[in-house]
This record gives sequence, structure tokens and C-alpha cells, in this order.
Amino acid sequence: MAKPKPSYKEIPPAAVAWKPATDYKTGDWRSKRPIRDTEKCTRCLICWIFCPDGAIKWDGKDITFNLDYCKGCGICAHECPVECIKMETEE
Ligand code: SF4
Ligand code: SF4
Repeated sequence: MAKPKPSYKEIPPAAVAWKPATDYKTGDWRSKRPIRDTEKCTRCLICWIFCPDGAIKWDGKDITFNLDYCKGCGICAHECPVECIKMETEE
């Protein structure tokens, strides 16, 4: 008889980030950078929620991209509901 499969409680955790992404500067991985149209941006903060590297800062009034940590994944541009972020190729 086949051995029963372990439950999820018996499987060791995997792919867990033990440190925040901001412990590592990932900006030099980037081949594209996010450029935001500030007129079109509604400050909804969806990009801030989705950025996997904590590279989008909110100061209570506006957002900025911290290029030391932005790896250019484009998730912010993909998730922005008003499509005001474009990914531009680095020089
Ligand atoms: S998701 Fe788009 S509209 Fe919302 S804050 Fe970010 S850039 Fe602005
Ligand atoms: S491209 Fe956008 S989502 Fe990706 S790391 Fe940079 S700021 Fe964050």
C-alpha cells in the first residue's frame, strides 16, 4: 500500500524570505526602470503594495522609486490601474 502523502503541516517551509528584500541592493539587476506620469497618477498606492522589493516609497503625499532596490521587474507598471508607469530601457 502506498505511503500517505504528508499534510502541509508536515512539510518544511520553503521559499520563505527570512529578511526583507531591502536588506539587499537589487538595483544593479535592472535593465529597465519605471517612469511615472505624475499628472496621471492618482496616488492609489497599488504599485506600493505590489512592489516585491519595497522600492516604492510613500511619504504621505507622493511616491518615489528607490533605484538602489528597484530591480526593474515591471510589476508596478503591470498593476497600475491607470497605466501611468512605463518601463524604460536603461542607457
Ligand atoms: S498604481 Fe499607478 S496610480 Fe496608483 S500610485 Fe502607483 S503609479 Fe500612481
Ligand atoms: S519595477 Fe516596480 S515593482 Fe519592480 S522592483 Fe521596481 S519599483 Fe518595484
